[in-house]
Amino acid sequence: MSLDTYQHKGKRQRLVEELKKKGIVDESVLAAIGRVPRHLFMEDLENLAYIDKAYPISSGQTISQPYTVAFQTQLLQLKKFDKVLEVGTGSGYQTAVLIEMEAKVYTIERIHELHILAMNLLPKLGYNPHFFYGDGYEGKPTYSPFDKILITAGAPIIPTELLNQLKIGGVLVAPVGENDKQIMTWIKKIDEVNFEKRTFGNFSFVPMLKGVK
Ligand code: SAH
Repeated sequence: MSLDTYQHKGKRQRLVEELKKKGIVDESVLAAIGRVPRHLFMEDLENLAYIDKAYPISSGQTISQPYTVAFQTQLLQLKKFDKVLEVGTGSGYQTAVLIEMEAKVYTIERIHELHILAMNLLPKLGYNPHFFYGDGYEGKPTYSPFDKILITAGAPIIPTELLNQLKIGGVLVAPVGENDKQIMTWIKKIDEVNFEKRTFGNFSFVPMLKGVK
């Protein structure tokens, strides 16, 4: 495995400055982005890792753009030791950012190849979430309720099952919409039947699909 050099660290600090200029204000999110070696999640494209863009990974999926990862993480309003369900492990980059923020992460991926790759990579870098291979539409009822739920694929609708697995006072963040256009959506569970909802502009994600592959 390649190393995390001073050159990588330097590029990463410049990325953090860029994210600040783009409006990310949460210092703990910026610090986490500053610590995760994104180039180790990208293999062939490693020299592009600190450019603020999404890139292809295996199985036709993408590693999210750093700005998007920072934006979603900021919206989660994480507290230390929050129990977080992440739908869409993908490269594991977002998972690592959550763990840097001292969340306890439960991450689900529907593509077996990506699930295995992330399970091999993350622990080597010192990141130890609970990994699951399965359909994120079903959540993880056995481990619920969660303080926070983060969907990292474009969800045509917010799955009711996931809202059921959120604690009262908990927050779910998801890009909601079809095709390649989603609206970033923040939902707080006020009580069993009432939710507060806010929206935060357009993003573009690979789709949240049903079933496993
Ligand atoms: N957080 C990832 C983003 C990967 S892209 C990263 O930083 O790299 C979104 C991922 O969601 C893809 O890997 C895709 O396979 C996965 N996905 C899509 N629908 C899903 C579902 N229903 N359950 C679990 N994972 C899903």
